[in-house]
Amino acid sequence: MDVVVVGAGVAGLYAVHRLRAQGLSLVGVEAGSDVGGTWYWNRYPGARCDVESVDYSFSFDPQLEQDWDWSERYATQPEILAYINHVADRYDLRSAFRFATRVTSAVLDEKSGRWVLALDSGDVLCSRFVVFATGSLSAVRTPAIPGLDTFAGRILHTAMWPHEEVDFAGRRVGLIGTGSSGIQLTPIVAEQAAELTVFQRTANYSIPASNRPHTDETRAAYKAAYPERRRLSMTSGGGSPHTPYPRRTFEVDEAVRQEVFERQWELGGVLFAKAFPDQTRDEAANSEARAFYERKVRSLIHDPGVADKLIPRDHPIGTKRICTDSGYFETFNRPNVELVDLRATPIDEITPLGIRTGERVHELEDIVLATGFDALTGALGAIDIQGRGGRELRGEWAAGPTTYLGLGVADFPNMFIITGPGSPGVLTNMILAGEHHVDWVGDTIAYLDEHGLAGIEPTPEAQERWVHHCVELADSTLMVKANSWYIGANVPGKPRVFMPYIGGFGRYREIVADVVADGYRGFDLLEAPVRERLEY
Ligand code: FAD
Ligand code: NAP
Repeated sequence: MDVVVVGAGVAGLYAVHRLRAQGLSLVGVEAGSDVGGTWYWNRYPGARCDVESVDYSFSFDPQLEQDWDWSERYATQPEILAYINHVADRYDLRSAFRFATRVTSAVLDEKSGRWVLALDSGDVLCSRFVVFATGSLSAVRTPAIPGLDTFAGRILHTAMWPHEEVDFAGRRVGLIGTGSSGIQLTPIVAEQAAELTVFQRTANYSIPASNRPHTDETRAAYKAAYPERRRLSMTSGGGSPHTPYPRRTFEVDEAVRQEVFERQWELGGVLFAKAFPDQTRDEAANSEARAFYERKVRSLIHDPGVADKLIPRDHPIGTKRICTDSGYFETFNRPNVELVDLRATPIDEITPLGIRTGERVHELEDIVLATGFDALTGALGAIDIQGRGGRELRGEWAAGPTTYLGLGVADFPNMFIITGPGSPGVLTNMILAGEHHVDWVGDTIAYLDEHGLAGIEPTPEAQERWVHHCVELADSTLMVKANSWYIGANVPGKPRVFMPYIGGFGRYREIVADVVADGYRGFDLLEAPVRERLEY
C-alpha cells in the first residue's frame, strides 16, 4: 500500500482520515485492542486533560466542533476516550487498523524504495511511506526497584491501568511517583483507601485546575468562538488561545504583577507557566512566580513540615510541565494520608509485605506506580528501524535524537514522525500539533506524486542545523535546569539532550510553511527510489 500508519492515538487516527481522503491506500497498526492511544492506556481514576477540552480536540472539521458537547473545562479520561471513539466511528477510522498488533521492525528496502514492516502477528506490510504516530508518552517506565516482583499484593501502573474498575476501599495503598499522573490519582485513592502512603522522590509544581462544568451558556459561547480560539491557538506558543501578559515581569509594578499571577492562578493548571513571557527565561522573574506559588500552596496545607516537603526547590517553576490538580495538596491534610520523602529515606527494596525504606517497612496491599515514560524516543526505540545502508535509528540516536523539523530523519527516506523529538509537540496542545504534522505529511506526499518524485528525506546538513538550533534555543531558557523527561533525565543512562523544539507552535508553523514555500528547503527530493550517495 502507499502508507502504513503506526498508532491509533489522536495523531494516527487523524493520519488515517487525512491520508485516506486524498486517495492513498493505507493500513494502520495499533498495539492496543482499540483506538485512543494515551486515553486508551491511561485509565487511572482522576485522569484528565490539562489543556482545556475545547482546545484539546480536533480542529479539522468545524461541524465536529459544533456537534460535540464537552461536559466540563477539563474532561475526564472516559469522556475523552468517548470523544475519540465518536471520531473513529464518525469517519470510519477503525476499519483501517489492525489492533492488538505491534510493529517490531521497519526496514527500508533500498532497491524498491519500500518500507518493510514486520508485525508481531508474523505478518509483513510493505509501503512507500511510513508514519510513526507511536506517541511521545507511550513507552511506559517501570523502575527497577529491587524486589518489585516479590510483592504479594496488587501492582498497578497508571499507564497500563486495567479496563475493569479497581476498588481501593478499605485497603492500604502505596503510590510511587508524583508527576502529573500521581498527582491526579492521589485525591481519589485517598478518598477510597483505608490508608494511602505517597512515596515522593522529587516534589513537583502543581496548580489547581479551576475545573468547572460547562453550562448550556458556556457551551454556546465556546462554540461561537471556535474560529477565533483556533486562530489564536495556531499562532500561540503552546497551542491554546491563552497568551502571556504582554509585558515582562519587572516592566510592571508589584500590584500589577500580583494581579497577573492571581489571574493566571485562577485560570488554573499548566497555564501558570506563562503568566509573564520571561518567566522561564529569567531567574529573577521565575523567582517572583515561584514566591507567589509557594504562598498559595502553603495556604492549602495544614502542616508546615509537610508543606516544606511538597514545595519543590530543585528546579525553577515551569521547567518541568506544571501539574494540573484537583485537591492534591489538601489531600495531605487527611488523617489517612502519609507523605514519605524518599530523598530523606530512600526505598531500599520492595518485599512481599510492602515497601522498605531506610526508616521502616510500610505494609501495603496495593502498590501503584505513576513512574512515567521513556518519553519522545522510547516508542521508536522499541522498534528495530533500519534506513539507508542498514543504518539503525537506535544507533543514529545513541547520543540523542536527530531530526529535521521533528518530521523526518536523514537516511530514513519517506519515514515521518508525528510530534517526536525536534517538534514542539510535547510543549503544546498535542492534538493540534499532531494535526499540523499529519497535514504536512499529506501535502508532502501529494507534492511528490504531482511532481513524479519517489521520495523525500532531510539532508544531513539541514538536520544538523535544526538540532543545533533546538539546543541553542533551549540553552537560552531555564528549561535545561530541570531533570525533566524533556531532557531524558528520568531514564537512567539516557543521553541528556533537550529534545523538543522550544520556539513555540506558531513560530514552528511559520518555519515549516517557509521551508515548503522554498521548495522543501533542507530536504532532498528523490527522483528514484535508490539514491546513490557519494559519501557512502
Ligand atoms: P498516543 O496517544 O501515545 O498513541 C500512540 C499509539 O501508538 C499508542 O496507542 C501505542 O499503543 C501505539 N504504538 C506505539 N508503538 C507501537 C508499535 N510498535 N506498534 C503498534 N502500535 C504502537 N497532551 C496535551 O496536549 N494535553 C493534555 O491534556 C494531555 N494529557 C495527557 C494525559 C496523560 C495521562 C498522558 C500520559 C499524556 C497526556 N498528554 C496530553 C500527551 C498525550 O500523549 C497527547 O496529547 C496525545 O494523546 C498523543 O497522541 P498520539 O496519537 O501522538 O500518541
Ligand atoms: P513523570 O512526570 O515522569 O513522573 C514520574 C514520577 O515517578 C516522578 O515523580 C518520579 O520522580 C517518580 N519516579 C520514577 N522512578 C522512580 C523511582 N525509581 N523511585 C521513586 N520515584 C520514581 O510521569 P507522569 O506523571 O506519568 O507524567 C508524564 C507526562 O505525561 C506529564 O509531564 C504530562 O505531559 C503528561 N500527563 C499529563 C496529565 C494531565 O494532567 N493531563 C496527566 C498525566 C500525564 P523523579 O522526579 O524523582 O524522577
